[in-house]
Formats: sequence, structure tokens, C-alpha cells
Amino acid sequence: MSLIVQKFGGTSVADAAKIQRAARRAIRAKLDGKQVVMVVSAMGKTTDILVGLAREVAKTPPKREMDMLLSTGEQVSIALMAMAIHDAGHAAISLTGGQLGLITDSVHTQARIQEISRERISEELNAGKIVIVAGFQGIDESGEIYTLGRGASDTTAAALAAVLGAEICEIYTDVDGIYTSDPRKVPQARKMDVINYDEMLEMAATGAGVMHSRAIEFGKKFGVPIHVRSSLTDQPGTMIMEHKEGLEDVAVRGATLKEDLATIVMSRVQNTPGVAAEVFAEVARNHILVDDIIQNFIEDGKFANIGFSTNQSQGQEALEICQRMAKERGFGPVDLDEKVNKVSIVGVGMRSHVGVASTMFRALSEAKINIDSISTSEIVISVIVREEDGLRALQTVHKAFKLDQPPA
Ligand code: ASP
Ligand code: MG
Repeated sequence: MSLIVQKFGGTSVADAAKIQRAARRAIRAKLDGKQVVMVVSAMGKTTDILVGLAREVAKTPPKREMDMLLSTGEQVSIALMAMAIHDAGHAAISLTGGQLGLITDSVHTQARIQEISRERISEELNAGKIVIVAGFQGIDESGEIYTLGRGASDTTAAALAAVLGAEICEIYTDVDGIYTSDPRKVPQARKMDVINYDEMLEMAATGAGVMHSRAIEFGKKFGVPIHVRSSLTDQPGTMIMEHKEGLEDVAVRGATLKEDLATIVMSRVQNTPGVAAEVFAEVARNHILVDDIIQNFIEDGKFANIGFSTNQSQGQEALEICQRMAKERGFGPVDLDEKVNKVSIVGVGMRSHVGVASTMFRALSEAKINIDSISTSEIVISVIVREEDGLRALQTVHKAFKLDQPPA
């Protein structure tokens, strides 16, 4: 019997009517002859409200208690979902992460899944029930409750789909799929029918806030297709899957904008082996996230300027750390720039197409947008631009690669 995992996000279970609608969708799949596992998020803005309450009662709420608190949001939804399915005349059972045997490591509020037991779920499915699982939570070996990080119900769903050998993992949400760019920033953005796992991972990493990255990693690793679609319609959304044919015909699949960035540049760094290693070890020791790294040689290669981008919220802290190192090691001045954006284009077709970078740079120059720095990987080209140019740069590259038009 084929098995399907259906995940419903917070907006898709925000009130009683929406819970009933989601319930009907699961029942339909069941009547179609499938075994159905549902994963649900907390209702609407519940998690945000709980986080807000925690901050009202305590300046720094203990992380263990945050997990106790936040895991309740999903417990409310699964119970209500099970009731709605019962009410419609079908068998269902709700399970918390702990009850089904989703084992995590022991990092409060940011736990990672270590193991998922199939036993309990299989037993319930074989008894003919729809199984409803609380997203975003599990327990560690000692039975303590852990959550998997904000937005991680997607990851629960993809991991369950992988472990249970599901034919597909459906992600029901309030948008109708994945777009070539954020439609709020690029009105011409187009919904895609299909996108590769790697492209989706890169789009998420470069600023697309669609799905939890670890969910895509699970899908990729275990070959589970992920279907991102609207909970309001029956229209197909976007398939995230390994799909070679046709996909390589297009050089660029999507364009993204990352706004909350800062760049740090350390000048006159000695160009000798080991210096970069020491610098970035110190940065990492301080838990500063490093996005892209850029190095230029100056004065005939005797010195280098080393720069990196990081989250804007960490910019000031990164500056202080780098200034301290500069003083200790005799580098030149350190610069912090908090007014930068990063625009990226993503596509597996870049591996086999030439002239992609030049098209991007030409389009930006014609739009009189200056490029601060460039970084590339196999399927991504990114440029750092001034903050005030960010949105226009995104729109410019979206147009230059004709992303508003369906691929031929
Ligand atoms: N309820 C959690 C959150 O809001 C998990 C999720 O929705 O994916 O982050
Ligand atoms: Mg979500």
C-alpha cells in the first residue's frame, strides 16, 4: 500500500474551519487507498505568541523550558485534527514526537533528528488509522522534550517520509508553490512546476524563505519528492525533486535577495600560510556566521585584504573581534559596512551553459548598479551591491534571464 505524508503549516490549520479542511484532504487520500501520515504545525501565530509570553516573564528564558512551552503548540493542533477526522467518521490518532519515537540529540531549541522509530506509526497505520504527528519536536535518549528550530515541521515531515518510504511528501501552505523570485519583491515572478533539490537548497541559503533547508536535505538524501502546494486549492504546486531532463536546458532557475547582511574587510593581512586559518578560527570561536569570503592581494602579494559577509545582527560583534585581531597581529584598519545586499542567481544548468556570469554583470551595469564583490559556486553566482540598489538589482537579473517566462 502506498504511503503519503501531508504536512500542514500554521496558516493551514489556523482555525477550526481550516483544520476541518485539512482533515478532509487527508481523508480523501485515505479513500484513494493510501496510508496517510499528517504532520501539523502549531495553529496560526501560536509559536510566536508563546515566544512573546516567555520573553514577558523572563529576560532569558531557560532553553529547556522554551522547548516545554513551544512543543505544546503542535500538541494542540494534532489533537484537534484527530477530533476533526473522527467527527467526519474516520479513524485517526495523534502522536507527539515522544510518543512515536522521534529521537533527537540534546540541543535545546535547535535539536537535530537522530532516529525515528517506525514501529508505533506502522502499527497505527495498519490498524487503518490516519496518523497525525506533532511537527518540530522529539525527545532525546533520556526522554526530555526538544524542538528542532523555527519552521522545522517541514523537516519532521520530510524525515518521516524518508523513514517510512513515502511516495511523496506534500507540504501544504498559504502560497501555491515556489516562485522564480519572491513575488512581493518581483511582481513578475513565476511559479515553477519543478525545481531540483540542489537549486532549492541554494535558493533557501541565498535568501528564499520558503522551506526549512533540512527538509530539502532529507528529501534529497532519501530521494523523496517534495510537493509544495496551496492548502486552499487542488492546483498542483511545485515539485522539488531530482529531475535532470529539461532542467538543464535553463541556465538560471531563480533569483534571490538577501537583505540583512553586513560585510567586514580586514586590510593588510600578512600573506603567509596559516593566517586565514587563524582569523576564521577566531571568528568561528565567537559563533560569527560567515557567508562569503573574499580575498585580494595587494602590494605584489605581500599582503591581502580579507573580507567576509555575515548577518547584519552580528556585524558589530564581528567588527570588534576583527579589530582585536588586527591590533594583535599588526593588520591595517578593519571596515564594517552594514548597508549591503546580496543578489544571487541559481540554476543547475549553469554547469553546462556559458556566458551566465557575463549576462548578469552586463544587465547590472546597464542598470547602473555597481558590484561590490562577486562570489560563485557551481550552481550559484552572487554579487554584493549597495543596500539601496538591492531590490532593483534583483528585478534586473530576473528580467535579464527571462525568469518571468516559462522555460521553452
Ligand atoms: N510551529 C513551529 C514554528 O512556528 C514549527 C513550524 O511551524 O514549522 O516555528
Ligand atoms: Mg513553516
